[in-house]
Amino acid sequence: MMLKKLAIACSFIALTAAADDRFANVEIKTTPIKGSVYMLEGSGGNIGVSAGEDGILIIDDQYAPLAERIAAALAEISPAPTRYVVNTHYHGDHTGSNAFFHEHKDATIFAHENVRVRLASDDKTAPATLPVVTYEDGVKFHFNGETIHVFHLPEAHTDGDSAVWFEQQNVLHTGDLFFNGRFPYIDLGAGGTVKGYIAAIETLLDKVTDDTIIIPGHGGLATPQDYAKTLDMIKQTNAYVQDLKRQGMGVEQIIEKGLPEEWADWSWRFINEERWIKTLY
Ligand SMILES: [Zn+2]
Ligand SMILES: [Zn+2]
Repeated sequence: MMLKKLAIACSFIALTAAADDRFANVEIKTTPIKGSVYMLEGSGGNIGVSAGEDGILIIDDQYAPLAERIAAALAEISPAPTRYVVNTHYHGDHTGSNAFFHEHKDATIFAHENVRVRLASDDKTAPATLPVVTYEDGVKFHFNGETIHVFHLPEAHTDGDSAVWFEQQNVLHTGDLFFNGRFPYIDLGAGGTVKGYIAAIETLLDKVTDDTIIIPGHGGLATPQDYAKTLDMIKQTNAYVQDLKRQGMGVEQIIEKGLPEEWADWSWRFINEERWIKTLY
């Protein structure tokens, strides 16, 4: 009995150590984009930053073990306090450091109301992680001489997605409505839909101009052309899968047949071709 307990304790420690190791070598890289707008990359969703005389606002905050490293990277940009955090949706790779910024930096967390509902429905969520201000359609920050427009897009990656538009600098943070150069993850279990995801990209592409700089949820900085390529890929692979489905093919048969070769390099560790076909099916 003792031995069994010890074994369980050891495997727990091993798991915890593995989880820590996963972040041990992550460094936060800062990229100045334009004026007061920056991007931070580490592990998890890309972080958008507005830094200036009014203070700091961040869009998403990656995983909890990275919180102090994110704060240190922000301090390099500006000594001003982090006053606001916006969550583009509830996933842990975008909300993991909420509690840190709320408790240690006194930041106020903003998100669509379904982000709060989904986080609150998980017993493991610390109360300090929860967004303090929630909205249905959106909210505008008048901050650092910029209009930062946060607005909701329905039933896309989840049921609580927001995109963020830095109006004067012409920078768009899409949250996970854009995985640059990869098959996107659409969280069907959390209210996401393929149809809504396509509609969200179309809405966002309608807003951009040729010189808009796009911060995707995952992947490197992008242009509207890159985003249009993603939309094209989704529409074409979706039409292909729907066509085979109409011909009576099951999902396993379509996986076996595979997508046309031209889409092969969109596959990645998390959403490979099989998972993307299942999502579309
Ligand atoms: Zn993500
Ligand atoms: Zn996500």
